[in-house]
Amino acid sequence: MNCTKCKTLFPDLLLDPRSVSSAAADDAHRHIKSCSACLTEWTELQAVMQNLEMWNVPEPSPYFETRLSARLREEKASPAPGFFERLGMRLQFGSRLQLRPAMAAAAALLLVSGFGSYEGMVSLNRTPQPAASLSATVTDLEILDANAQTLQQFAAFDDPDGAMPASSGATN
Ligand SMILES: [Zn+2]
Repeated sequence: MNCTKCKTLFPDLLLDPRSVSSAAADDAHRHIKSCSACLTEWTELQAVMQNLEMWNVPEPSPYFETRLSARLREEKASPAPGFFERLGMRLQFGSRLQLRPAMAAAAALLLVSGFGSYEGMVSLNRTPQPAASLSATVTDLEILDANAQTLQQFAAFDDPDGAMPASSGATN
């Protein structure tokens, strides 16, 4: 077995070892033992996979699902957009396409400066909605959500370890 063939088996060996035939797996492991380049890559990939298994995915805010389902119900109940509304949406979408490199640069800057978080990315991509179109339920849930985030940030300040929770965003 050569390096190229061995490396193409790495994803399957790591993610779904049962999909690789035992003969191919044995060949690959024999090659990994004899080839320092493949051994380095293999150990690095294994370390990445172990880190991913230990990684705790940040929980969404407690009101996220309730708010989402309320928004979905509203969208279903609302009448289909007329011609001018669709034209407006298309224009808005077009201008967002032109802004995309700028948004990507801003997101990269956030990541580089260590403040990048899932919420930061989401708030960059969130299209501003006119407040009048939201129902009282969704508005209430958004207020609760904002309060929960604020409390979470205060809790982080009070934390004696000084550790910020992973879900706190810099751009709230
Ligand atoms: Zn090799």
